[in-house]
Amino acid sequence: MTLVARPLRARELRARSRGIRWLRHLVQAGAAVLVLWIGWDFVLWVRGLESGQMTAQRPPGVEGFLPIAALMSLRHLWSAAEVHPVHPAGLVILLAIVGTGLVLKKAFCSWLCPVGTIAEMLASVGLTAFARRVRLPRALDLPLRGVKYLLLLFFVHAIFVALSPSAIAAFLDAPYNRVADVKMLYFFERLSPFALKVLAFLVVLSMVVPFAWCRYLCPYGALLGALSLLSPLKVTRHAPSCIDCGLCTKACPSLLPVHRLGRVRSDECSACLSCVAACPVPRALRVETPRPWRRAVRPAAFACLVLLLFGGTIQAARVWGVWRNAITDAEYAERLREIDSYDHLRGGEPSGGS
Ligand code: SF4
Ligand code: SF4
Repeated sequence: MTLVARPLRARELRARSRGIRWLRHLVQAGAAVLVLWIGWDFVLWVRGLESGQMTAQRPPGVEGFLPIAALMSLRHLWSAAEVHPVHPAGLVILLAIVGTGLVLKKAFCSWLCPVGTIAEMLASVGLTAFARRVRLPRALDLPLRGVKYLLLLFFVHAIFVALSPSAIAAFLDAPYNRVADVKMLYFFERLSPFALKVLAFLVVLSMVVPFAWCRYLCPYGALLGALSLLSPLKVTRHAPSCIDCGLCTKACPSLLPVHRLGRVRSDECSACLSCVAACPVPRALRVETPRPWRRAVRPAAFACLVLLLFGGTIQAARVWGVWRNAITDAEYAERLREIDSYDHLRGGEPSGGS
């Protein structure tokens, strides 16, 4: 006999929803503070290199913002069976993201990614301004969702097919890549008018069309979307308990018709648990392992898994000794003097040909 739970009273539902939402926002806030801390330390370290008076250490976590170098390192790991010593933390962070994607769907996007958090904030601002969620027509939405996969294919083809292992190793060792982190900082500190316009356009777009960057353009989102199909944990609707109220569908930021699905297998599901938080019937909607086990994973346990998988991978890399960059501060200081002449299109050599 199937036991059907009674719907929660309004007050109980509010408390439960708030609990699940706050749990995720707490993890998001923690991740955002960590990223800001890393950014601040990195800026202090670069200023120290420039002035010759060091006041901070270089935080390895900054390499999480070098996705191309991380993919190159992954290819190097694949072909040479070794972790390249330049920016190894970038590779470790990429592997941590891939690990969460394989087990917890796109939880990285909705629980940890700072860009995802900013996108969510911009979506709320847009919702307040326009008083409704803007949804592109399906005929436009579907092909646009494919764009991020095309971008991912482009990078994967360029790095894993078109380039030889020796070309990859040459890129990783090149002066450009050795200071790619400082290059990135200078890029954001000296934004060109064109880059500023693109950024402003993306900000406005994300307010008008919620999660436009994540949904249509982010190659990391595409990678996680593809991996998420393999994830054993999925939001699952228990049809006999469901009262067909549609609140889950209304709450879904990925615009999925949750109230019509059994298991949410979509590559767009970011495992944000907003649908679970909105559901008024206990056990009608939960994150579950696949058949035959069908074990429910509570939101608190899900949050712990996100932190454990991501943080555990990084901790394992620290213990294994593949977290810290091999480049010394002295080398950085020397290269900083000629950094403006480094050009990745010329294999990273200074344009003067030295
Ligand atoms: S289906 Fe649920 S968990 Fe997945 S994106 Fe929609 S609201 Fe979030
Ligand atoms: S699963 Fe969705 S439709 Fe069913 S009761 Fe829960 S919120 Fe309502």
